Amino acid sequence: MSRVFNFSAGPSMLPEDVLKRAAAEMLDCEGSGQSVMEMSHRSKEYDNIIKTAESLLRELMNIPDNYKVLFLQGGASTQFAAIPLNFMNKNGKADYIITGQWAKKAFAEAQKYGDVQAVASSADKTFSYIPATTKDSFRPDADYVYICLNNTIYGTIYHELPDTGDIPLIADISSCFLSEPLDISKFAMVYGGAQKNVAPAGLTIAIIREDMLGNARDITPTMLNYQIHADNDSLYNTPPCYTIYICKLVLEWIKSLGGLEAMGERNRKKAAILYDFLDNSKMFKGTVVPEDRSLMNVPFVTGDDELNAKFVKEATAAGFVNLKGHRSVGGMRASIYNAMPIEGVEKLVQFMADFEKANS
Ligand SMILES: *Cc1c(COP(=O)(O)O)cnc(C)c1O
Repeated sequence: MSRVFNFSAGPSMLPEDVLKRAAAEMLDCEGSGQSVMEMSHRSKEYDNIIKTAESLLRELMNIPDNYKVLFLQGGASTQFAAIPLNFMNKNGKADYIITGQWAKKAFAEAQKYGDVQAVASSADKTFSYIPATTKDSFRPDADYVYICLNNTIYGTIYHELPDTGDIPLIADISSCFLSEPLDISKFAMVYGGAQKNVAPAGLTIAIIREDMLGNARDITPTMLNYQIHADNDSLYNTPPCYTIYICKLVLEWIKSLGGLEAMGERNRKKAAILYDFLDNSKMFKGTVVPEDRSLMNVPFVTGDDELNAKFVKEATAAGFVNLKGHRSVGGMRASIYNAMPIEGVEKLVQFMADFEKANS
């Protein structure tokens, strides 16, 4: 068996230890005589799995007690509608910062439900930076301010959060979930699809401050009402049972490596190897301003479409897969989520150096 280094933006690599453990428990999970896939979500065995997943997440992310953790379905994209339906409920207004396609999609969806304003955008330079805002950028009567914390396609991240004063801040953290410590108390809600850093696709985790709940609009579909899921401990209906189980294994893996401090250190080291190379290469260049660079998604270009295509083709043949960039940026993108070993980045950089030598 040989495994590739998978630089996909999502779904993406899972830790090998997690895959091996899942394989070992496939037919009989912890003496239950069943696969987790076969368990009733109301069983004692499954209750233990979902409760452990939640308590590990609370422990690792240091989630304050006045926040609910919800295990949801429908992908991050479903929250684009659920957020206005649940929270745009006082003045019917919300402010969005447009830092890429995911923020733009969330913004477009919210416009169906109220007075939604784009207060800042980095569209002028293909979203290669995080636009500056001040407290005065936001309408004081906005029900919330929405950001996408890490921009998967463009490779930017907020290293400093916008100051929204008393206005609740909501963030999509799909592509930086569990990548380093995050102060949850700064947010009214964070959420993310699991398939980037947490588990396979099919699970969306939302972490919501309790005082935000209970004011969903009357027309809110039951399945999009966060209060319903909170009241039912994420078991209002059948949850994505197996995906939550894999999430639990991933959380155990992160804990065994020393938690989010250690994960952040590991991720900074990996990103530095790649950015240092890009900053010194004559052929490859990063596309993001240095101060807003993501630790998770690293887009880069050669400036020549033919050379880009040649690079992606040869890299794939050498076992570095899914390096083709998003069509809106072009070039390449290396997503180096938690499960990517340091060795994967070191070998990629060596491959890039060899390619540069052979083609210049
Ligand atoms: C991948 C991604 C999404 C979309 O997630 P789905 O689960 O496919 O709906 C939204 N936001 C960000 C930041 C993402 O990276």
